Amino acid sequence: MNLAQFPRRRYTTGSTPIQPLNRLSDLLGGPSLYIKRDDMLGLAGGGNKARKLEFLMADAIAQGADMVITCGAVQSNHCRLTLAAAVQEGLQCHLVIEERVPGSYRPDASGNNFLFHLMGVDGMTVVPPDTNMMLAMQEVAERLSRQGRRPYIIPGGGSNAIGATGYIACADELESQLFDEALNIDTVVCASGSGGTHAGLVAGFHGSNSRIPVVGINVRFPKEQQEDTIYRLASEAADRVGVLSVIPRENVVCFDEYVGPGYSLPTSEMVEAVNLVARLEGILLDPVYTGKAMAGLIGLIRQGYFTKSQRVLFLHTGGWPALFAYTDLFYADWARNQ
Ligand SMILES: *Cc1c(COP(=O)(O)O)cnc(C)c1O
Repeated sequence: MNLAQFPRRRYTTGSTPIQPLNRLSDLLGGPSLYIKRDDMLGLAGGGNKARKLEFLMADAIAQGADMVITCGAVQSNHCRLTLAAAVQEGLQCHLVIEERVPGSYRPDASGNNFLFHLMGVDGMTVVPPDTNMMLAMQEVAERLSRQGRRPYIIPGGGSNAIGATGYIACADELESQLFDEALNIDTVVCASGSGGTHAGLVAGFHGSNSRIPVVGINVRFPKEQQEDTIYRLASEAADRVGVLSVIPRENVVCFDEYVGPGYSLPTSEMVEAVNLVARLEGILLDPVYTGKAMAGLIGLIRQGYFTKSQRVLFLHTGGWPALFAYTDLFYADWARNQ
């Protein structure tokens, strides 16, 4: 793999830290837990989309775009970070927002929605649940093209082969950090949503022959469907960067037991995980992705999926700005458990 051949913008200086989660590991009685702080990536508020956008924005600029269009849910971290990258690059940005949970869109909501407006989003289109988002973005693109703009469409979550290249680069960064720090990790655990993060890691670890297994904790889709998506995307991304051997299907592992009632809908395990990590480690998880992914890691530990002597690395994919749209949920939980 020669990642230097692909156009890339840089939004983060250096590598994100890997830290031990000593107090959480002690509480759970092992395995030894570590966290990679991709919540400390660059752009406004950090998070995993910053790595994908390094390659996606470079492609947009190479194609002569003067604006980007992307999509996401009402509290989308991906929309926040795409807008931040566009602002930094001097491009316009139009967001197509899917009201996935009926009634969940409020124009004056806090969290990421507030940040869309603070960073001066150039346009927002809100569409109902189960809209074909690619079609909706193409309609916006056609309208704006007729007005003389040159739009570039970034798919939901930045999850195509170009965006997933950001997480092939992350796999590379992680391996060299582990080598430098003489740390041998048995498994990486991450949230699995639109899939570019999980798929990029699978492709990267396969391409380098490091054989570090990746466990994805689903935040939206059933196991089979998500594994198929991840496998297809990992294969496409591996192909793009010149990995010659085929990725074994069994390298893609997803758990869907921690989604709860649906995407972005709270579970008590998520609330427990967000509370625990805040109070034991001083690290902020989010309610939609990393809270459920950490609930998955804790659940798997409690059911004996990992042995006490293993070392497991949790990928913190960001998302904490969405916490401010969920304060009522946490206040109610604390009131009940006083
Ligand atoms: C988008 C997102 C994810 C999921 O990553 P995908 O690449 O879409 O699977 C995880 N955590 C946070 C905070 C996110 O915003």
